Amino acid sequence: MPNIIVIGAGLAGLSAAVHLAKKNHNIKLIEATPKLGGRTYSFYDDKSGLNLDNGQHIMVGCYKFTLDFLRTIGALHKLEFQENLKVVFIDTFGKKHNLESTNFIYPLNLFFGILDYSAVSIFDRINILIFAAKLFLRLDKNELFDSIDKWLLFNNQNEKINKALWEIIAIGALNTSLQKGSPKIFASILREIFFTGNFSSTIIVPKTDLSELFCSDAENFLLKKNCEVNKSERLTEIIFENKIAVKLITDKNVYSEFDYCILALPSYAMNKIKNIENVLDLNSLNYSTSGILTFHIFLKENKLQEKFYGLIDSPIHWVFNHKEYLTLVTSDADEIITKENEELFDIAAAELKQYLGIERANIIRYQVVKEKRATIIPDNNFLRNRPTAKTSIENLFLAGDWTATDLPSTIEGAIKSGKIVSEIINSK
Ligand SMILES: Cc1cc2nc3c(=O)[nH]c(=O)nc-3n(C[C@H](O)[C@H](O)[C@H](O)COP(=O)(O)OP(=O)(O)OC[C@H]3O[C@@H](n4cnc5c(N)ncnc54)[C@H](O)[C@@H]3O)c2cc1C
Repeated sequence: MPNIIVIGAGLAGLSAAVHLAKKNHNIKLIEATPKLGGRTYSFYDDKSGLNLDNGQHIMVGCYKFTLDFLRTIGALHKLEFQENLKVVFIDTFGKKHNLESTNFIYPLNLFFGILDYSAVSIFDRINILIFAAKLFLRLDKNELFDSIDKWLLFNNQNEKINKALWEIIAIGALNTSLQKGSPKIFASILREIFFTGNFSSTIIVPKTDLSELFCSDAENFLLKKNCEVNKSERLTEIIFENKIAVKLITDKNVYSEFDYCILALPSYAMNKIKNIENVLDLNSLNYSTSGILTFHIFLKENKLQEKFYGLIDSPIHWVFNHKEYLTLVTSDADEIITKENEELFDIAAAELKQYLGIERANIIRYQVVKEKRATIIPDNNFLRNRPTAKTSIENLFLAGDWTATDLPSTIEGAIKSGKIVSEIINSK
């Protein structure tokens, strides 16, 4: 069995390691930090005694690589599934508008769900359905545009529809604005979510914290397969000879006994590895990133009924109800993430009052998490410059949410990238 070293234990590295371990390869997983999970992690909040996430992570039914990964490690039961798509949107007046697929058969249920969506006028709902038909028939012409807003305008989607629907979906799925995101990737995601079966559009949320969901069972799975998991060990240099990686140098060890190496690092960490220019053109990795701001807000009394709410035209895009606390998410947060926490809390508290009627006096305390480089903006520059899993070095492969997966920088993209590498190595 070949010896494989996987560097980086984010979801891409964990996915590669798990899928290779399934075939009983000898795996060594090396992670720079003391924890697994990379940008998907939880931390202990000693005041509440709870593990809080670095940000609410939302999944949808079409995340098939993620579901397959969780099934493999035995963690599928840690997810909460919807039977049919249901999102409660709230407008600036605090009025609720359900976007809910009905009990009709698919896809008629989604059709009637849109027809019932009261956040926009009946004419706008018909407009959305005409656009959806064009999208389905691939007549939407996304290839002609460099930004989602121009593409939506071309397809007769007005400001009101954008605010009440497309902006919230794009910001949630791509973590960027309609002005910056690529219509190509947005169109492909919309097709995947809405046109590949009823389950694809349903929203999936973790029942546990993120580290418990993605890392605990993955680590146990790897250990049971006799893999090594080395935390707090950082790759610093790779030595190449005749287009082969022959040594991996970390801050603790030198490894030369390996057949394959997988680099599952974020793109911005690549330039810290000595000699990496043998593998990658570092200039092409100048991707733009965007931040995510998260508030965990503890309430004296929580009367909210739904699991989550989408806020229309608010700097807070989603509110998740964990009973003991609420999690408020601002994606594409670069404009506000640099503000002081107190100022941000004033904004969050005002939005909670306006949209959900929660008084400031009802808030006990808050925890704020600022992830400044949460994801890569899926603009045309990024889509043109994504490297494939195979490199010019025969025994060295890449994985990560930034590599060529046809998906945006997401959980699903990261896990798919690990699966792609594992399939290449398994086929050798
Ligand atoms: C706040 C937030 C919210 C998000 N919400 C969603 C969401 O709702 N839905 C969704 O699908 N996605 C979401 N994402 C995106 C998702 O979390 C990422 O796309 C995914 O986790 C990236 O995984 P990765 O393995 O590619 O990279 P990373 O998670 O960055 O993993 C790379 C790993 O490599 C390690 N490393 C770096 N350098 C070295 C070195 N020299 N040696 C050894 N190890 C090294 C790092 O420590 C890290 O553990 C969110 C991200 C954030 C931050």
